[in-house]
Amino acid sequence: MLFTMEANIHLHILASGSKGNACVVEGPRGSVLIDCGISRRALLARAAELGVNMSRVRALLLTHEHSDHVSGVSVLAKGFDGGMYATAGTIGARSYLANLPFTTFAPGDVLEIAGMGIRTFHTSHDVVDPVGFRFECGGDALGYCTDTGVLTPEATEALCGCRILALESNHDVRMLKEGPYPGYLKARILGSGGHLSNDQAAEALPQLLCDGTETVVAMHLSEKNNLPSIARRTLEVALGNRAAVVIAAQDAPKSVR
Ligand SMILES: [Zn+2]
Ligand SMILES: [Zn+2]
Repeated sequence: MLFTMEANIHLHILASGSKGNACVVEGPRGSVLIDCGISRRALLARAAELGVNMSRVRALLLTHEHSDHVSGVSVLAKGFDGGMYATAGTIGARSYLANLPFTTFAPGDVLEIAGMGIRTFHTSHDVVDPVGFRFECGGDALGYCTDTGVLTPEATEALCGCRILALESNHDVRMLKEGPYPGYLKARILGSGGHLSNDQAAEALPQLLCDGTETVVAMHLSEKNNLPSIARRTLEVALGNRAAVVIAAQDAPKSVR
């Protein structure tokens, strides 16, 4: 018998990549914004382009304090009446975040927002206390994990068996090694506190998929060290025909339903 998951949760990628990140996770009773590393103006324009109603956003969740994830938070916060959530480590790492009315959580905590259960988990990145998320609602599940040098056992477990899996597929190792970045930056990206490569994402997929997995979204692609075609091919080979691949883009918003 074919196992299908109810499509209660949808992902709207407003921006994904080293120049800025923001995604809306939409549930039946409201939405959550993950990160705001683009301007408020761009955020609203891209949401409008996708037909995403931003007045349904009940909360902002931060993954970590790198500016491509938080540069728009201060301005957004001025007119935002939803809750704001991040780890204490993330908030403490930037004074302008520390001055905003954040509620803190510890990795491993489960948040309840807009009718969705949101499980938080540690990621492996060169910042204070980074996290990823698993959203659940009425038999549906969406996993979200970017900016991690390796997939820890904790992350692997949390990301298992989602209908939509948004997973970092940052670079092609050969392009990175042969590319223009200075040596220290190449080492950082390749290290355990850096970013997941196409190959690492592909290798993880067999453990993460379930019969109900419909879409794997390749997130946070490097513009210099990756190509959408390479990321797609690498993930598609790993998936066979078990799920579709969507490539998230820096400046072309996309919805995954
Ligand atoms: Zn990033
Ligand atoms: Zn980062």
